[in-house]
Amino acid sequence: MPSFLKLEGIEKRFGTFTALKGVDLEIEQGEFVCFLGPSGCGKTTLLRIIAGLEAQSAGRIEQAGRDISRLPPSARDYGIVFQSYALFPNLTVADNVGYGLVNRKMPKFQVRQRVEELVRLVGLPGSEGKVPSQLSGGQQQRIALARALATAPGLLLLDEPLSALDAIVRVHLRQEIRSLQRTLGVTTIMVTHDQEEALSVADRIVVMNHGVIEQVGTPQQVYREPASPFVADFVGRVNVLSGQVDAAGHLRVGDAVLQFGLVQGQARPRGQDLKVYLRPEDVLAQPLPPGSAMPEAFEPGASNVLAARIDKIEFLGAYCLARVTSASLGEQGLTTVLSMNFLAEHGLSVGSALALRLLPDRIRCFEQ
Ligand code: ATP
Repeated sequence: MPSFLKLEGIEKRFGTFTALKGVDLEIEQGEFVCFLGPSGCGKTTLLRIIAGLEAQSAGRIEQAGRDISRLPPSARDYGIVFQSYALFPNLTVADNVGYGLVNRKMPKFQVRQRVEELVRLVGLPGSEGKVPSQLSGGQQQRIALARALATAPGLLLLDEPLSALDAIVRVHLRQEIRSLQRTLGVTTIMVTHDQEEALSVADRIVVMNHGVIEQVGTPQQVYREPASPFVADFVGRVNVLSGQVDAAGHLRVGDAVLQFGLVQGQARPRGQDLKVYLRPEDVLAQPLPPGSAMPEAFEPGASNVLAARIDKIEFLGAYCLARVTSASLGEQGLTTVLSMNFLAEHGLSVGSALALRLLPDRIRCFEQ
């Protein structure tokens, strides 16, 4: 099946600065895609180019089989929601939502019906007569969403629509947007710099950095199989250790010899300095009372088992992040996830000894 939206070699220059360096991307019909990346990586510029609000310096855009590269915004088929609510402050909710329909000369009674349907869809039935200042930030974004969906566009563009809202409203509304998108089946692109937001709602995430796409993948792929150190660092927490692959092909970190997954992009290199990436939840921990052998909880003969001690415990509510150090790793620190129950059950605190197991197939290595 041909893709719904196809970007080919999109470049954008602002004077001498290149904001987008040849972006290629294909999006399927009905997909929810997030553009994720740090401030200034070019995600908003790319969204604005898709909307025709910014002209690309080079490249081609196709939507539903039609070349839209040079079409003005009004000739393209999308609805858009911006970060700041961008509702007309002096118009009622009904007039805001119905704006695009009136412009299209839809008969009045049909506009009224459609507006009623849309405000119900976004969970604000009965709000038609209010003005934006009578609504909370979250409610205003719901109305902005209803307005964007009014003409039943083929593409919904969301430019950081949740970032001005407080944390609880944000989490709630992102799930509502997701379920609304599923119900309507509208192809959606959301720009965000919030990795948790992207992981929780997207079918696929486009991770961007300095005007290029670093990785495109499902949330699971991006989190568990980051394609570059940047992606590993930007999405989720990660431990980074320095290691080398010795002549025999073993990974050495400090004095420890570790089993590990593949080095990105090549079979096991020899004699090379590597950056070793491992997420906190992939460092398993067991108590190690003084004088005792490595615990049996890690199956006998398990690889990558090390003795360590707790240096610091950061309480984060449901769980803790413990900073641990292991002499075997040449005193390089690691962060692991521990529950409060686990700490209490084993009487663990700063200074306590632990046995760690670094899950071999979760270790990812990149060349230095
Ligand atoms: P943010 O989350 O901060 O909005 P972003 O990833 O969306 O970041 P863009 O807004 O796309 O980033 O901007 C990408 C780069 O292009 C930035 O370095 C920005 O300064 C630059 N840029 C964007 N618009 C213009 C413009 N009109 N003129 C000059 N430079 C611009």
